[in-house]
Amino acid sequence: MPDLTEKCLTPRCSQLARTRGLCARCYTAAANAISKGQVTWEKLEELGLSKASQRDKGHAALFQNALQEALQGEANAKALGWPTGK
Ligand SMILES: [Zn+2]
Repeated sequence: MPDLTEKCLTPRCSQLARTRGLCARCYTAAANAISKGQVTWEKLEELGLSKASQRDKGHAALFQNALQEALQGEANAKALGWPTGK
């Protein structure tokens, strides 16, 4: 269980931490910075601006698996000429 009284790691942010020690908004901002290639989660951890999260890794793996299966299913359906929608 996450500690629901833990504050966001971002300096001057007074929101409660939700994921990786960050509040929802800071987490989104961090994810954006990462997707732009400005930084990595590892670097943010090093800087003390995020925390490693085992739960996150579990969810990331779960999501990746689901995504791969969904993409594979879609590719298979297209290859077989199945209708993908209505
Ligand atoms: Zn925050």
